[in-house]
Amino acid sequence: MSTGEKRDYYELLGVPRDASQNDIKKAFRELARKYHPDVNPGDPTAEERFKAINEAYEVLGDAEKRQRYDRFGHVAAGAGQGAGPGPGFDPFSGLGDLFEAFFGESPTTSRRGRDQVYELLIDLEQALSVTEAEIEVDREEKCPICGGSGARIGSPPRKCPRCGGRGRVEAVQNTFLGRFVSLQACDRCRGEGTIVEDPCPDCRGAGRVVRHRKIRVRIPPGVEDGDRLRLAGEGPAGSRGAPSGDMYVVIRIRPHSVFTRRGRDLHCEAQLDMAAAALGTEIAVPTLDGEVKLSVPPGTQPGANFRLRGKGMPARGGSARGDLHVRVKVVVSRRLSGRQRELLEEFARAAGDDQRATGKSIFRRVVDAFGPEG
Ligand SMILES: [Zn+2]
Ligand SMILES: [Zn+2]
Repeated sequence: MSTGEKRDYYELLGVPRDASQNDIKKAFRELARKYHPDVNPGDPTAEERFKAINEAYEVLGDAEKRQRYDRFGHVAAGAGQGAGPGPGFDPFSGLGDLFEAFFGESPTTSRRGRDQVYELLIDLEQALSVTEAEIEVDREEKCPICGGSGARIGSPPRKCPRCGGRGRVEAVQNTFLGRFVSLQACDRCRGEGTIVEDPCPDCRGAGRVVRHRKIRVRIPPGVEDGDRLRLAGEGPAGSRGAPSGDMYVVIRIRPHSVFTRRGRDLHCEAQLDMAAAALGTEIAVPTLDGEVKLSVPPGTQPGANFRLRGKGMPARGGSARGDLHVRVKVVVSRRLSGRQRELLEEFARAAGDDQRATGKSIFRRVVDAFGPEG
């Protein structure tokens, strides 16, 4: 695992790509037990392996992150150090599951809400300057009736008698490695610390209800396809009134009909007929700020590039804009009118005379054709 190349997460967990979430969880638990540093003291390989499977499970164990990983690979899945310049995911979000792998239920009472991901499709023009967009999501929110407690009004949840409200109980395990005293989630209250005897009829005791919401998103200039914007605390509510998770808006930029984007620069192609390229002309070039005139000099060759400074995209955050590159494509007419044909034939004769006069062959060494002087 010392190489820079990251291993495939499915391979790390030893599961097929179509494995169910349950199979992934099972595979992770098994491997986590096997490679846990406490079980392999002083074995750096096991520790590396343990970290790697942990990272793999952080992504594959979460249906949304897994989907992104399937589509975009390591970086987009937001795992480990590959998270890029965007806001990273909480590296400890998998620890609850890790604890579960060893001790059953999660020990935490009232857990923070999950993170939610939303893909927002925008046009290239919207990435030019600050833009506002509205997203519509269904998200879990704190039940307004019971305030998130899950209990019917008038019958508040009571402290769990088994764990005394701690949500955890001590458990002694005798294993082949020795005797472990560990904290285990309380089985009476399922780790919550409280017991709801009369559940709230609105949320059926969950403390959360799903609401359809419109959320305004401020899109900074220069965003690129795949960038993630973090809306802190806009994610689903936590359980039993715990803080909400975050909402991540993944930017998707619709392919543009004219421009291709490479970093801050934009590229497009202008088609010129052969006469215009030979004689020179002025063309109207579309830019994201409207049309601009570009004068094409006489003798412009196919593939020639013209650069319009400052007509590209801004860098992330909106600093100086890149350039627009216009590449000339010279189009040879497929059909000629009688008059055009006549004129071209005359042109061809004149060009032939010219060529004979200078004694040049139409086959030239590459260095002649592309060198400084032909
Ligand atoms: Zn409720
Ligand atoms: Zn309890």
